Amino acid sequence: MGQLDGKTALVTGGTSGIGLAAAQRLAAEGAHVFLTGRRQNVLDEAVASIGTAATGLRSDVSHPEDLDAVAAAIQARGRGLDIIFANAGGGSFAALGDITAENFNDTFSINVGGTLFTVQKMLPLLNSGASIVLTGSTAAYNGTPAFSVYAASKAAIRSFGRTWAAELADRGIRVNTVVPGPVETPGLKDLAPAGAEQELLDAEAAKVPLGRVGRPREIASAVLFLASAESSFMTGAELFVDGGAEQI
Ligand code: NAD
Repeated sequence: MGQLDGKTALVTGGTSGIGLAAAQRLAAEGAHVFLTGRRQNVLDEAVASIGTAATGLRSDVSHPEDLDAVAAAIQARGRGLDIIFANAGGGSFAALGDITAENFNDTFSINVGGTLFTVQKMLPLLNSGASIVLTGSTAAYNGTPAFSVYAASKAAIRSFGRTWAAELADRGIRVNTVVPGPVETPGLKDLAPAGAEQELLDAEAAKVPLGRVGRPREIASAVLFLASAESSFMTGAELFVDGGAEQI
């Protein structure tokens, strides 16, 4: 018996890093997982790593019409939706004086708009007892220089989580936010100049009380907890998975 037998899940940005680890974990616990990403070949590889418990849907979370197509595909399966892991996101460094409208719009349309419209478009499909897991970041708490646009986008997620938890409680739907610290993923490494990836990881590890960066599967474990009935009395909460970085 898996913890999620018979459940249906959606993982946005399920082709890499935290999203891929979560999609694999949710499927291993018995869920059928719809996962999204923008590149078909990478999506195909992610689906192949899971097998028949996964369905890949090429879509961009910053394009609401793509999300309509995702909702239609999930609806066509006929079992509604029990879990949303709104994970797709990312950012880039830019000091205050260098931030461009493009940088702002890209980050906010993916991290904020993508989360908002993913959840909005899936609302009619959600079964009673569904769990929505949003993706925050410790960057929203710690004032990392040259990361203000990303940090602000993740602060918005924290706010979404509280408000939506209140709005959806009557339908028996819970909304929580997982807050990763630094986790070794392609997304984190891409923040470093070419060749300096290890330097970035070492610098991040040095800020973490546990002395290392996190692994994608460690975030996936927290996502599973929030997605499952094990967290049945939690809503509107943030779960930090950060090696103590923002706690100590
Ligand atoms: P990653 O780059 O390895 O994976 C991101 C995934 O999102 C990829 O599958 C990518 O294709 C997808 N994606 C990006 N933009 C998309 C879009 N517009 N439409 C659809 N899919 C899109 O990154 P990751 O580190 O695994 O990050 C996953 C989430 O965790 C992000 O929201 C990120 O901000 C957050 N996070 C990561 C860390 C970290 O240290 N890695 C820390 C805190 C929060």
